[in-house]
Amino acid sequence: MSAASLEHRAYIALGSNLGVSAEALDGALEKLSALPGTRVLQVSPWYRSAAIGGPADQPDYLNAVCEITTGLDPRPLLDALHQIEHHFGRERQVRWGPRTLDLDIIWYQNVTSEDPELTLPHPRAHERAFVIRPLADIAPELVLGNQPLNHWLEHTRDQAISRL
Ligand code: ADP
Ligand code: MG
Repeated sequence: MSAASLEHRAYIALGSNLGVSAEALDGALEKLSALPGTRVLQVSPWYRSAAIGGPADQPDYLNAVCEITTGLDPRPLLDALHQIEHHFGRERQVRWGPRTLDLDIIWYQNVTSEDPELTLPHPRAHERAFVIRPLADIAPELVLGNQPLNHWLEHTRDQAISRL
């Protein structure tokens, strides 16, 4: 069996609204591509979005989505994402509070999971313009929650977001 057949495609959402967000996103992409057996194939344009949920008066977010192929299974991939978040100074304090870096697995090839520690596809991704807009730029054919991304683009079009 060739090594390539062990690779899985996945989409990772990146977000930051504290510190120098552009540096956190660039740095996270570099660290992602340095993970074992992992390549970053595509990176979406960057977006600015208003924070949803959590404490009021948070700064806007910088958001993007990337496509990777990886030999890591979903759980080790999530552990690696948490390490990258930690490296960029993330502290988990308030739920949905401001953060230097948030990395979520939106979709992982052929895997569905109801585990609250790692739910796949991500349970709230399709409700968030800051995921759907950049995702549609690089994976317009993807289906989430049994609907094409166009459906979710329409569904989330009230949310404040702009492409940079
Ligand atoms: P947010 O929902 O804003 O991303 P956190 O980044 O603090 O909040 O994540 C909370 C928890 O969500 C994490 O501890 C993680 O175990 C869990 N989680 C469940 N599914 C996923 C997923 N698909 N990607 C990333 N984290 C997930
Ligand atoms: Mg997260």
